Amino acid sequence: MSFNSENYTNIPLSDGDSFHEECGVVGVYNHTDAAAHISLGLHALQHRGQEAAGIVSFDGKSFHKHAAFGKVGSIFNKPNVMDSIAGNYAIGHNRYSTSGSKKNTNDIQPILSELALGNIVLAHNGNLTNANTLRKKLVSEGSIFSTTMDTEVIIHLLATSKKSNLYDAIVYAMEQIKGGYALVAMSDDTMIGIRDPHGIRPLSLAKLGDGYVFASETCAFDILGAEFIRDVEPGELVIISKDGIESKKPIKDIKNRLCIFEYVYFSRPDSTIDGRDVYTIRKKMGHELAKSFKDNFDHTIDVVIPVPDSGVASALGFSEESGVPFELGIIRNHYVGRTFIEPTDNIRHLGVKLKHNANSSVIRGKSVMLIDDSIVRGTTSKKIVDLVRAAGAKEVHMCISSPPTTNPCFYGVDTPSKDKLIASKMTTEDISEYINADSLTFLNNIGLYKAVIGEDRNKNNPQFCDSCFTGDYPIELVDNELGNN
Ligand code: AMP
Repeated sequence: MSFNSENYTNIPLSDGDSFHEECGVVGVYNHTDAAAHISLGLHALQHRGQEAAGIVSFDGKSFHKHAAFGKVGSIFNKPNVMDSIAGNYAIGHNRYSTSGSKKNTNDIQPILSELALGNIVLAHNGNLTNANTLRKKLVSEGSIFSTTMDTEVIIHLLATSKKSNLYDAIVYAMEQIKGGYALVAMSDDTMIGIRDPHGIRPLSLAKLGDGYVFASETCAFDILGAEFIRDVEPGELVIISKDGIESKKPIKDIKNRLCIFEYVYFSRPDSTIDGRDVYTIRKKMGHELAKSFKDNFDHTIDVVIPVPDSGVASALGFSEESGVPFELGIIRNHYVGRTFIEPTDNIRHLGVKLKHNANSSVIRGKSVMLIDDSIVRGTTSKKIVDLVRAAGAKEVHMCISSPPTTNPCFYGVDTPSKDKLIASKMTTEDISEYINADSLTFLNNIGLYKAVIGEDRNKNNPQFCDSCFTGDYPIELVDNELGNN
């Protein structure tokens, strides 16, 4: 077995930064042109990470990697690239990161490593909360790290596990790592899809011809014509080999805590996550918001306008519930990436201007209700309210289809530190004034749970991870507590 390492150069050691990833993963087992299918899947998951993408394939003899910075189309849609990652087995990854090396191609997943148990490929969506603590320990024992990714800790645990097969090595690693992770791993004879014992990040399984596909979201199956089988369950390892599919749950303490923000914002509306349609849930959030607005204010609204694209489904729900017409009052330039997802503050500011324009024909002289999914720093909302005022709105109200984001995420969604979260410092009234709105309504946690599962949050055993809204972190923040950041 050999590496085709054209794009896999040696890099300097970690600069101490760590990535906080909110990524997309895809794995194809036993299908011709696996890499081409992966690239389509990654294209469908582009919203989960736009900074870099990579594919590692296995052709029955050798592993091949192609990875680069940029969007999926620009990386894989080039002459000879697909030929260089041939084979019927492949794993792909879309990366989004906020810090760490932006130039190092080794920091682009999937990670391909030569271990005693064979060549192993690993792609990770999520964030480990004890990665730095484990890394320090591993380094003190002689491990040599070559990337800044928390995912590499898993590779070193596999390497030092002394286990003879991928499954046993992964279980050994899972017994030590903490945090949110959906992983796809591959050896020369097995592919394994894994969700952490809290099921924080999504991962699903589908059938593709005689083979199988893993993907972070079901929208990746649609583009491939793959037939959805089921979600990988929290704490589950779905092991695919020539003997078929096997399911194992080796970790005892399993609690179902899918990230509720996947429904609020992160997943695509045409995905079904853990059996619930994201689009339907977002519309229900809009219904709940309209009820809450009506209970708290007696303003007259002439038109409901979504902040595209993240507010569209909730705005439709708001319009249905309130009977106020829905209009596309803000037009988004689709050739600019997600505002928030651009990695520096300067670009982020610029991004809002580049991205949205007001459609004044439906705004002028009207009392406008703007709907968006979340307020993080407050930058987007402020710009949008100003844009709508400048287009001649009489009044500008805003409804947000999630509770105030008061706490950072440590499990794989990139949020800024607490001091940059506007809702951690200001009351709703103060935020309303800051963004220059006539009123501001957040969906409260009760309404959010009602929209997602139709029942209340179970205080003793919450059905989701909602730590960004409640500060209730279901998994120990080891690095944070030990100051190993
Ligand atoms: P801001 O309040 O300006 O920081 O940005 C809020 C907007 O960013 C919201 O309208 C969301 O659509 C989007 N957003 C929220 N959280 C995230 C995230 N973790 N990654 C990317 N975009 C996000």
